[in-house]
Amino acid sequence: MPKHIFITGGVVSSLGKGIASASIGKLLEAKGLKVCMQKLDPYINVDPGTMSPYQHGEVYVTEDGAETDLDLGHYERFTNSPIGKLNNVTTGQVYYSVIMKERRGDYLGGTVQVVPHITDEIKERIRAVSRGKRYDIVISEIGGTVGDIESLPFLEAARQFRQEEGRENVIFIHLTLVPFIRAAGELKTKPTQHSVGTLREIGIQPDILLCRTEKRLSKDLRSKIALFCNVDPEAVVEARDVRSIYEVPLFLKEQGLDQVICRYLHMEYKAGNLNDWKKEVVDRALFPKYQVTIGVVGKYVELQDAYKSLYEALRHAGIANDSRVVIKRFNSERLLKSTVERDLAKVDGVLVPGGFGNRGIEGKIRGIRYAREHGVPFLGICLGMQCAVIEYARNVLDFKGANSTEFNKKTPYPVISLLEEQEEVTNLGGTMRLGSSLCEVKHDTFAYEAYGAEEIYERHRHRYEFNNKYREAFVKNGFRFSGLSQGGKLVEMIEVENHPWFVAGQFHPEFKSKPDKPHPLFKAFVAKALELKRSGTKKEIDRRTEEVQEKVYEASSAG
Ligand code: GLN
Repeated sequence: MPKHIFITGGVVSSLGKGIASASIGKLLEAKGLKVCMQKLDPYINVDPGTMSPYQHGEVYVTEDGAETDLDLGHYERFTNSPIGKLNNVTTGQVYYSVIMKERRGDYLGGTVQVVPHITDEIKERIRAVSRGKRYDIVISEIGGTVGDIESLPFLEAARQFRQEEGRENVIFIHLTLVPFIRAAGELKTKPTQHSVGTLREIGIQPDILLCRTEKRLSKDLRSKIALFCNVDPEAVVEARDVRSIYEVPLFLKEQGLDQVICRYLHMEYKAGNLNDWKKEVVDRALFPKYQVTIGVVGKYVELQDAYKSLYEALRHAGIANDSRVVIKRFNSERLLKSTVERDLAKVDGVLVPGGFGNRGIEGKIRGIRYAREHGVPFLGICLGMQCAVIEYARNVLDFKGANSTEFNKKTPYPVISLLEEQEEVTNLGGTMRLGSSLCEVKHDTFAYEAYGAEEIYERHRHRYEFNNKYREAFVKNGFRFSGLSQGGKLVEMIEVENHPWFVAGQFHPEFKSKPDKPHPLFKAFVAKALELKRSGTKKEIDRRTEEVQEKVYEASSAG
């Protein structure tokens, strides 16, 4: 039986519970322990796949094709915990399965209730994630904020779980906020006391408090929190704002959180350290030699969380290239014909991420055209690849009105379209091409140069595909298909031949990038952007762009 840690959050949301959980996982792995990470989400959606990025941020896709909460991305980036379908549990899944059982008659005439049926189902899922595997510790993060109606069944299930497994096998870590009140010049502990009080009301006494704060917690303040919240003083851990999220495990370790956890859980461990993480990830992230600017042209650029993995993957590529990656975000709806040259003149590389729906498509296509025509390194992801195909069809092959049938069913050139097997599908949830699949990479391509391998695995989340009817027309005109699915049926990667670096994939490479294992495509993309910037090629592009701008300006002021 593995030991268990439940992580809850109090006071307010957005305290970084996912990063705290992932950091604790990292910390324990550094002790030689085998860790499994799990997220329990209180919403009624079966998975976040049907939620808008405005509501939920990024949908993180696992190897086995589950559409999950973005915190699972943090888990994969920080730890080695395998992540799949079982690692994200939602209220929707739990109720769905209980209701199916009720319909089958499994409850033998009983009244089906939140306690015990829903809570039993939750406990079953907490156990299922580690069944038959050899983990030392399972960390289950409970979504939401203590006091929410939604999270009550999960907290009750966790309470029962501890009762069943024993105190020496299960602990609770509570993440709270200790706000600094400027007018008083003081840190305040009352919200923490209240939030722990709320937890206690439902029968949970937290063992460890992680206190988010912008100032140092003094010894006195820690003692005060310990006294009022009924925890040991060394179990009051400061979680101060940091410069890079990858620093969090180091801070927690400095305060001996790993020792406290292992002591409470009666665990033996090897004395591990995070020296490599500090040297290879944190120090390199904080003190890079160079700087490079990448323009992200997308629909949800105002949202911090909508392209989470993508921004992280760019940072990892920066770490690998000893470079700070400044990310400039461009709302594709506002990237106009008259402004695209001026806007993108500031960037060393252009990235177009994935997405759904018509809105902002033309701006993305404009951004891609700019990158292609000006020799600016380009990376397209999923919808970004589809837009690159449309752009090439319209502006190079002269296929007027070329489009994806997602945006125009009647386009004369459906260069992106549905596969036959997708035509019949009417449900939205879980019906896309999802999860990892094999891609064969061709030699003498940017892709091969980046991956150094003929076979790669990448994760998918889309319905539409390159329309094979047009392959020949593209190949004849300087386009190449550098990656194909096994047997060659589907186009997985495309490139433009006479360009310094123009690559796009039908998959989502960002999900597989880690700070200490950057993704090859991101790494090569940032490397090329940096190389061109440093060699002065970028200056030449800027000069030419300025010329164009002046002409545009003259023309518009004359008109
Ligand atoms: N909307 C496109 C499709 O369904 C692309 C999806 C994506 O970018 N993830 O194929």
